[in-house]
Amino acid sequence: DELLLEVEDLHVEFRTSDGVATVLNGVDYSVHAGETLAVLGESGSGKSVTAQTVMGILDSPPAVVTGGAVRYRGEDLLTATEERRREVRGGEIAMIFQDALSALNPVFTVGFQIEEQLRVRLGMSKKDARKRAIELLDIVRIPAAARRVREYPHQFSGGMRQRAMIAMSLALDPDLLIADEPTTALDVTVQAQIMDLLAEIQAERRMGLILITHDLAVVAEVADRIAVMYAGRIVEQADVTELFRSPGHPYTEALMASLPRLDLKGQTLETIKGLPPSLLNVPPGCPFHPRCPRAESRCETERPALHSLGFGRVSACHFADEVVSGRV
Ligand code: SF4
Ligand code: MG
Repeated sequence: DELLLEVEDLHVEFRTSDGVATVLNGVDYSVHAGETLAVLGESGSGKSVTAQTVMGILDSPPAVVTGGAVRYRGEDLLTATEERRREVRGGEIAMIFQDALSALNPVFTVGFQIEEQLRVRLGMSKKDARKRAIELLDIVRIPAAARRVREYPHQFSGGMRQRAMIAMSLALDPDLLIADEPTTALDVTVQAQIMDLLAEIQAERRMGLILITHDLAVVAEVADRIAVMYAGRIVEQADVTELFRSPGHPYTEALMASLPRLDLKGQTLETIKGLPPSLLNVPPGCPFHPRCPRAESRCETERPALHSLGFGRVSACHFADEVVSGRV
């Protein structure tokens, strides 16, 4: 399938009064049409910042892109004009957020917000835009769409607002959708419904989908590939089946050990000891070494490069081969 997005060796710093935080320290990932890439990691690992850099919506300052490339269908967006970036935003790459309430404007009806894009960006008439907005609300299964198109965001439940935001993101028919923790604020049943909906829409439209999450259980269901992030880097990238069969990085192993398993009811879950590092002061060598049960002395000084394990799988660990084969 067609390669849509390539993020290459992306570096981003936050220049704050407390010093320089290295927020992205060489991020690489790619997404093809029809593929779901889950980007997994603890908060502060750089998942959202990578997505914001791709979208061109980083808060700058304090954020500064200090290196790398973001290529959409071969075109480097980091060096594109602001006009071109605006075109790409929404039209080719769209993003949905955790908090629909802050993404939707409370003073306009849901319909107006969808229709505005269609009129301004596609030059549709008011009447056609209304018709299309109702269709879009139908696609995301908002009941009584013809009536609800005239309602305001606060009249929608949390799950319905999330659906409305998905409808809005689809208005300009993007080829790539980035969903940043799209279900985190919702209760478990609604979470599952929204994930099902996203997966279905992605498959139907053959879109690329980047699903940002801290929840390994969510990605198991819908992702084709997983990129695991830690301290501003990808530490492992693998096919989802491969990764669940046998993790290729100690951090992924630790995440898996903390995952609740239905077949092991009552078993105490292992949690990862320690805290993610401060990005103002990332540990030298392998940034995971203070928390890693497999760490050896070279891990404290030598930074592991991304190492290929075959089948498009990579891991940034000195002992990746031993880890993936289950040897200690
Ligand atoms: Fe652990 Fe060392 Fe591998 Fe880092 S390089 S993950 S510290 S074993
Ligand atoms: Mg985030």
